[in-house]
Amino acid sequence: AVPVTTLLQRPAAIIGSPDRARHAKIPLPADLYRPERTNSRGIEFGERAALIKLLAEIAASKPDMHKIVDANAEQANAAVTAACTGFASWSRTPAEDRAAILDNAAGLLEQRRASFIALLQQEGGKTLDDALSEVREAIDFCRYYAAQGRKQFGTGQTMLGPTGESNVLSMRGRGVFVAISPWNFPLAIFLGQVSTALMAGNAVIAKPAEQTPRIAAQAVRLLHEAGVPTSALHLIQGDGRIGAALVEHPAIAGVVFTGSTEVARSINRALAGKDGPIVPLIAETGGINAMIVDATALPEQVADDVVMSAFRSAGQRCSALRLLLVQDDVADRMIEMIVGAAEELKLGDPSDPATHIGPVIDAEAKQKLDTHIARMTTEARVHFAGTAPAGNFVAPHIFELASARQLTEEVFGPILHVARYRAADFDKVLQDIADTGYGLTLGVHSRIDDMVERVIARLPVGNVYVNRNMIGAVVGVQPFGGFGLSGTGPKAGGPHYLARFATEQTVTINT
Ligand code: GLU
Repeated sequence: AVPVTTLLQRPAAIIGSPDRARHAKIPLPADLYRPERTNSRGIEFGERAALIKLLAEIAASKPDMHKIVDANAEQANAAVTAACTGFASWSRTPAEDRAAILDNAAGLLEQRRASFIALLQQEGGKTLDDALSEVREAIDFCRYYAAQGRKQFGTGQTMLGPTGESNVLSMRGRGVFVAISPWNFPLAIFLGQVSTALMAGNAVIAKPAEQTPRIAAQAVRLLHEAGVPTSALHLIQGDGRIGAALVEHPAIAGVVFTGSTEVARSINRALAGKDGPIVPLIAETGGINAMIVDATALPEQVADDVVMSAFRSAGQRCSALRLLLVQDDVADRMIEMIVGAAEELKLGDPSDPATHIGPVIDAEAKQKLDTHIARMTTEARVHFAGTAPAGNFVAPHIFELASARQLTEEVFGPILHVARYRAADFDKVLQDIADTGYGLTLGVHSRIDDMVERVIARLPVGNVYVNRNMIGAVVGVQPFGGFGLSGTGPKAGGPHYLARFATEQTVTINT
């Protein structure tokens, strides 16, 4: 049976707020692009039921989880050489044709939505809602970059110049781009990176996370079927060693990476150490993401937003809430409500539509999280410790720290850390957040505009969410990416992202 009210389909009275209603009136750029995920909080009941039926049929047909063979260094070299040839023709393919191919890919994804959801559940441990929003995001990325690409790469921009001279600025691909993507969004981030690089006119070598190779393989097949020449898009499976070999290859022209700050640094060092042209790195990494809740916040909404931000996707999002800072006057009440909401979460088989939290990605991730939980259990005050079934499951936990400064690293799982603050110490709270060095997402729950403005002005953070949850950035609506240790800053799903994958050329003609 499908529960009518799940965590993601709470009555609007709890989800909504007066502020939300005001923001919702901002019109979307419908002429340019209409996101699939305007309703990212849940799906229409009939659609959900039809999907569940399809998924059961797919499961009954026992899809083949064939073995994946890692590429060796020789194959990686051969792929780069072939991509260099592919680049020559792909970069000359008109932007309109490249965009049309991405639109085709989006259409194919829509048609095969159920099989991608099934694969995301099987290989990525995604719940139905997470898998569904991920497929929607992947579709959005293809359509959004196609729409932006038509605008930005279509015809060159005529620049103002003296009479008797024409000056045109145009954008073109850089060459062979290496795209290294993570397991936590094995379809959306994978396709986001690859579709941007392709739209900008680059050839691509995609190196997906070794935990989710089949999803990447299906996505590449789909892009080839949509019309991307096989010479312009190559898939190299394997772990970090093959990724490093690709990064070090002398013929590559750019790297886009999503993953840990540590790996981003090592890629940066490798690129900087190479001879030849300077190769740019576009990196989106992690965060110690905080949410500040003051005494004016709405407790029901805070509870809902905290639970969604900290525990959805088993906390395996870069954007997820890690550190909740609550004003001490309301802290007991807030924590009690958050614990109450966390108690409702159902952990289990991700293919069960009633499941809120599936497994973490692998045994290694579980081991790391369990170690952190054991340490927190002795060093912090335990407010909530859920129970997890056998397997790679990690139950949600809520720990109260004596100080925000106790949390010094990103903990990539369903573990929420809480610290109280006194209103008089508010500046110190902001300093503690700034001192983490990260700047990806930030939540603020307050009904005082001045306080919200003060926080936004003070903290260098890429995505700030006020009086709502802080995950699930929608393509073209909340361009996503961070500052400082959280990445190099370009916003995925934003209008300036494509340009980072391109070079610009100015042609001046004496007429
Ligand atoms: N864009 C995703 C979100 O807003 C997070 C992406 C990531 O985890 O890298 O939740």
